[in-house]
Amino acid sequence: MSQGDEQRTAKVEPLRKARPCPECRRPSTRDNYPFCSDRCRNLDLSRWLKGSYAIPVADDESKADDDYRD
Ligand SMILES: [Zn+2]
Repeated sequence: MSQGDEQRTAKVEPLRKARPCPECRRPSTRDNYPFCSDRCRNLDLSRWLKGSYAIPVADDESKADDDYRD
């Protein structure tokens, strides 16, 4: 989380093809690959966690709604 890290990684030549960050499309860094920063990595993780338990519940709810009509 130091500012020096950002400058250092910017000068490092990538060993592989540079890949855009899935969150903001900036070039990824080796420290946070495939993301550009720790913040984007956490963003993706939190979204993944939300989605993982929102999807199965939605399917069950629509069925339960019909059963409880009468
Ligand atoms: Zn990013």
